[in-house]
Amino acid sequence: MAKKDYYEVLGINKDADEREIKKAYKRLAMKYHPDKNQDNKAEAEEKFKEVKEAYEILNDPEKKAAYDQYGHAAFEQGNAGAGARGYSGGSFDDIFSQFNGGSFDDIFSQFGGRGRAQAAATRGNDLQYTISLSLEEAATGVTKQIKVPTWTTCDVCHGQGTKKASDIETCTLCHGSGVVQMQQGFFAVQQECPTCHGRGKIIKNPCPKCHGEGRVQKTKTLSVTIPAGVDTGNRIRLSGEGEAGRNGAPAGDLYVQVQVKPNPIFERDGVNLHCEIPINIAIAALGGEVEVPTLSGKVSLKIPSETQTGKTFRLRGKGIKSLRGGTMGDLYCHALVETPVNLTSKQKQLLKELGESLSADKNAKHSPKQKSFLDKMKKFFG
Ligand SMILES: [Zn+2]
Ligand SMILES: [Zn+2]
Repeated sequence: MAKKDYYEVLGINKDADEREIKKAYKRLAMKYHPDKNQDNKAEAEEKFKEVKEAYEILNDPEKKAAYDQYGHAAFEQGNAGAGARGYSGGSFDDIFSQFNGGSFDDIFSQFGGRGRAQAAATRGNDLQYTISLSLEEAATGVTKQIKVPTWTTCDVCHGQGTKKASDIETCTLCHGSGVVQMQQGFFAVQQECPTCHGRGKIIKNPCPKCHGEGRVQKTKTLSVTIPAGVDTGNRIRLSGEGEAGRNGAPAGDLYVQVQVKPNPIFERDGVNLHCEIPINIAIAALGGEVEVPTLSGKVSLKIPSETQTGKTFRLRGKGIKSLRGGTMGDLYCHALVETPVNLTSKQKQLLKELGESLSADKNAKHSPKQKSFLDKMKKFFG
């Protein structure tokens, strides 16, 4: 299902500023509040999820920029820079349970992104990276270099944001919480502290490299070892290789999501492989040998006489290694008997003679399928 445009979801223009985005979100969150939608709670929940997702993206300058440039694709693939983080959907009830008897600012502190009650140490975000592999790479395993845009701890100040500990003071406006309460109409809205920008601390002599952030944006190259037997949907976790944490907190993890590209010859089914083997009518009738592909090269396959289309030949151990047990899957070759084309006049003559000889036998004993078909037809017509 195609996703709706985030701006459309919030009913705003592309040039809407932060205030307008927040306003639209608040209006829609109220509209789809479960208390106001007792009769169609499920529908309201769906709508609300859409609204929440759109808001989470557009309210985050980094994600908004990625969305403006790449659209929804920015959050589907792991390689679109700032869009590397997936959207985390929360349950409707979880979110609104906060509401009951509470004030509206709860909802913002829950998922406004910046409204942290504690501005101290925050663990870095997990990152997701999608790696595309050929079937051969997935089957044998491979080591790949990947480039991941991320935040890393500043090496000048070691994440402290300054060189001297005495240069760090608690923010006097928010008293270290990083947030301040603002009155907006009926609602008390929690906002990022404008003095310390949500960090809870003021740095007198900020580090020249990271400007007091404690971390710098950087593309890091990682070596990922992919084990033999992986398939689309498998995930490899690289512990601590996600974004650096803030204020000395641990880094997030990097999840490498495997995607195996379709192969022109083989179709994969778990540890087994399937492929179609075209066989000409002469070999199909008389028997013979054909060359068939396997992941480890070509092998010769003996075709017995009287082979029909659809007959399956199993090549043991020519499939894919199981990721867990290490046992090998099999390769199934499906025979496809082919009608000859582009015939020379001599070939046509030979076939004609063969055809006449086959038709001469009224019992169709050379054509088992045709024989049973004729029998059924006889029954059907009387
Ligand atoms: Zn620094
Ligand atoms: Zn502050």
